[in-house]
Amino acid sequence: MAIQSVGVIGAGQMGNGIAHVFALAGYDVLMTDISREALDKAVAQIDHNLDRQVSRGKISTEDKDAAMRRITTTMTLSDLGKTDLIIEAATERETVKQAIFEDLLPHLKPNTILTSNTSSISITRLASRTDRPERFMGFHFMNPVPVMQLVELIRGIATNEETYKQLVEVVEKIGKTSASAEDFPAFIVNRILMPMINEAVYTLYEGVGSVKSIDQSMKLGANHPMGPLELADFIGLDTCLAIMNVLHEGLADTKYRPCPLLVKYVEAGWLGRKTGRGFYDYSGEEPVPTR
Ligand code: NAD
Repeated sequence: MAIQSVGVIGAGQMGNGIAHVFALAGYDVLMTDISREALDKAVAQIDHNLDRQVSRGKISTEDKDAAMRRITTTMTLSDLGKTDLIIEAATERETVKQAIFEDLLPHLKPNTILTSNTSSISITRLASRTDRPERFMGFHFMNPVPVMQLVELIRGIATNEETYKQLVEVVEKIGKTSASAEDFPAFIVNRILMPMINEAVYTLYEGVGSVKSIDQSMKLGANHPMGPLELADFIGLDTCLAIMNVLHEGLADTKYRPCPLLVKYVEAGWLGRKTGRGFYDYSGEEPVPTR
């Protein structure tokens, strides 16, 4: 079965990026959210981001207009039943995702593939509560979706080969590259990236270096485009902590213990760029290190 239409659930920062890349690649996209405001904001954001691609000469105005025409929105989840591929990108809470799949199942076509963009929830467990665990996969995009090249494809224990192959083709069609990961906590990218960020926070906590010296060391000494603390602020410290907790609990190894300083920042509401303060203070023109 050829995949032509895609249903995107959740119109937040990931949902709007996913809708953007699929529409640009020629898929019909139907996007839903529980918030009308989120849907309107997502469409405006996609329009703005496509304009930027036009002004940089990456796509033509015709490409942009055609992509915008392919995107429609609905507040009714069951409308997505007619699509060939579902990408769930709603809030990272297992009960929320389970409820979405439960409500959607009776309306789906028999062959529709179900996927989740979850960063940390077990694909096998989400799949086991649906009527099609063999046609269920983790479809993990990176933020910001229109810019980042990688997509992790995560097979649950029951996922069949045909579903995997179909998604490999879809990733090629949207012009990205897939990496296959088994269904273990945090998959590949976050399994490696988050302990590094956590270790950078320990390095700060133990006074080995200041925010500036830690970030500078990794940029100039390891050729990373961003320092680990700068990157943590960009991702969101709450997200970093949540993923460390998933690793710590899921793998039961003390090497994944979240740094107490990271916990304290999250408790203070210092979540990084999105709240104006994290390891840097973003209230002025330039970010200023806080330690
Ligand atoms: P977000 O908070 O920006 O957006 C989530 C959206 O889901 C919101 O608009 C919310 O209204 C909507 N929503 C909540 N409950 C819903 C429901 N029942 N039905 C429909 N919509 C609902 O979150 P995000 O950063 O876009 O993350 C979404 C998913 O993508 C999460 O699973 C997250 O783990 C994953 N992810 C995030 C990143 C990242 O860097 N932010 C990267 C990769 C994967």
